[in-house]
Amino acid sequence: MKNNLNPAPIKDVLAKLTIEDLDLNGKRVFIRVDFNVPLDENLNITDDRRIRSALPTINYAIDEGAKVILASHLGRPKGRPDPRYSLAPVAKRLKRLLNKDVIFAPDCIGPQVENIVNKMQNGDVVLLENLRFHEGEEKNDEAFAKALASLADYYVNDAFGTAHRAHASIVGIPKYLPAAAGFLLKKEIEYLKGVVNNPIRPFVAILGGAKVSGKIGVLENLEGNVDKVLVGGGMAFTFIKAMGYEVGDSLVEEDMLETAQRIRKKLKERGVKFYLPVDCVIAQSLEPGAETKIVPTLEIPKGWKALDIGPATARLFSEALHNAKTILWNGPMGVFEIDAFSRGTYAVARAVADAYALTIVGGGDTDLAVHRAGVSDSISFISTGGGATLQLLEGRELPGIAALTDKKE
Ligand code: AMP
Repeated sequence: MKNNLNPAPIKDVLAKLTIEDLDLNGKRVFIRVDFNVPLDENLNITDDRRIRSALPTINYAIDEGAKVILASHLGRPKGRPDPRYSLAPVAKRLKRLLNKDVIFAPDCIGPQVENIVNKMQNGDVVLLENLRFHEGEEKNDEAFAKALASLADYYVNDAFGTAHRAHASIVGIPKYLPAAAGFLLKKEIEYLKGVVNNPIRPFVAILGGAKVSGKIGVLENLEGNVDKVLVGGGMAFTFIKAMGYEVGDSLVEEDMLETAQRIRKKLKERGVKFYLPVDCVIAQSLEPGAETKIVPTLEIPKGWKALDIGPATARLFSEALHNAKTILWNGPMGVFEIDAFSRGTYAVARAVADAYALTIVGGGDTDLAVHRAGVSDSISFISTGGGATLQLLEGRELPGIAALTDKKE
């Protein structure tokens, strides 16, 4: 991780208790984590970053002498037990990562679980079975939340990726227990709210991905703080069409044309520099082996679609990052999942990584892109959320954070 440019001290972005405010010694602490990891058909974990990102909080609680009760969801088991979504493989991996025993409970509530918890010693770790094996989790059922809360003395939320969901383990339990943020949650808020709302300028936002509709809220929230906005990906073509140009068969959201035009004008009035692709990689289809061409954006022929930014745009965007002190990047520049349309995204990933700036990357696709480009270690902060990241970047409150106990000065 880049440490050369830490954010200016961020005050009061999280006016809630954090795990460090709790006296954990000998206490049962229920930590809601996001262990929703991808599994292959043999139930092997293919990427354990979500588990790793909760380790600072878990290790802290162990070191403080807490009885650590971990809970998570995994997949969408529809409110009943389903072995395909068991957290058993996670318990195994966690054991290895913590280098200590992890007791795996066969359920998340009920007498058997209570029995296990009652026998815990200080520093022990229990992982509960998938919360979504009970309907009450997603329904935020009060009795279910109460049953979970009865297992512990304190509640800690470190499940940033789920903090935008009003589920029992996110907003229900905090009604019954003192509730604090874990280190991951705190860090996400510090970067996505603290830095983004109070950036060291010039502040450059790079937005991409499929649709304008998904990013309008982000643009509106950044409007007052941002100095430059670089737009790539499919969403660029709604902006370009809205300006009256032809875009061939590129992705366009017809119902967003007016909104796109309005936002672009508003940013211009505020003196924000707004960049769109000047050239594109085009193809007639996404089929592997389909012919591709590089053309100026205003010369995309009928029957062809733009699927990546072109080399001139990659250079233009890289140069636009030159004087940035803070960079936020959300959304790929093209259909980077396909090799032929991945170069623009990787070029931007390298430019972001090379910039002498505090760099924040958000969203699952963009996270994947910086990893594939091999530059993830050079990014200051990579958000672990998807929907939760966007919601914070839109300036909206997350239910999981609102539910935590207020910090008293
Ligand atoms: P989002 O979830 O809105 O950030 O969109 C991410 C998706 O946008 C990725 O799966 C990309 O393949 C897709 N995408 C990026 N650029 C384009 C494009 N020019 N045309 C169509 N899809 C795109």
